[in-house]
Formats: sequence, C-alpha cells, structure tokens
Amino acid sequence: MSNFTICPFCGNSIPPAASVCAGCQAEAHRGASSADAQGAALLGIAACGGLGWFTGFHPFILSAVGGAVGAFGAGIVYSDKVTWKRIQRTR
Ligand SMILES: [Zn+2]
Repeated sequence: MSNFTICPFCGNSIPPAASVCAGCQAEAHRGASSADAQGAALLGIAACGGLGWFTGFHPFILSAVGGAVGAFGAGIVYSDKVTWKRIQRTR
C-alpha cells in the first residue's frame, strides 16, 4: 500500500514519513494552524458567551470555558491536517 502524497507545487510524490518535498523543498506542517485554533476559540467564546448572556449564568466564565474547549477541539479536529508550505528559494 503506497500512501504517497503528491506535492501541490511540483507534483513530486512524497513518502509518508517525509516532511520535505525532494522536488521543490516544500515543507509539510501537521496539525492545526494558529489561525484554525484562534477561529475555533473565538467560535467557542461567542457560542458559550452568548449562551451565558442569554441564560444569565456566568457569561464570562462560560466564554472562557468555551474558548478553551474550542482551541482544544481544533487541535483534535485538525491533528491530521497537513499543510504544505513552499519556502522561497533564493539563488
Ligand atoms: Zn514539491
């Protein structure tokens, strides 16, 4: 079973264990990006803060919990996400 990744930049096939493309030096970054985690945390803050505001039950505590849960959830949801980034080569 080959599980090779195709490089989105140069089409080179990359072994699963490799984190750098041999063809164009693009690097694989695994896991949630900071933007993913921030977005999820904001969503959690908004959802739980809104719930707290609506029910009158400690909105600030709820929003803090919501933000933490959101950021934590993003780490799980995006843990298999691989983002390829090509570093500009200077010659
Ligand atoms: Zn490549």
